[in-house]
Amino acid sequence: MLQPDFNPAPVAVQIYRCGYVSQCKAPRCRERATLVAEKVDNAGRHVRQIELCDRHTQVVIARERARGIEIQDRRDWR
Ligand SMILES: [Zn+2]
Repeated sequence: MLQPDFNPAPVAVQIYRCGYVSQCKAPRCRERATLVAEKVDNAGRHVRQIELCDRHTQVVIARERARGIEIQDRRDWR
C-alpha cells in the first residue's frame, strides 16, 4: 500500500522572471531569456535551473506537466 502522502513525482518546476541578462538555453535559440525555470525537490530545495525565453518556457511547462510535474508559476512575484 502506498502511504497517503506518497508523492510519485517528487520535483516541481518553479517559473520565475529572469532578473539578469542571459540567453535562452534551449538548443539553437538566440532569444534573450526572460524567465527562469527552476526544478526543486519535494522539500523545495533547488535542483537545477535553466534560463528560457517565453516560447521555450511554454514548451518546458507543457512537457513537465505531461510528465506529472507540478508547475509553480512565480512570475508575479517580482
Ligand atoms: Zn528560447
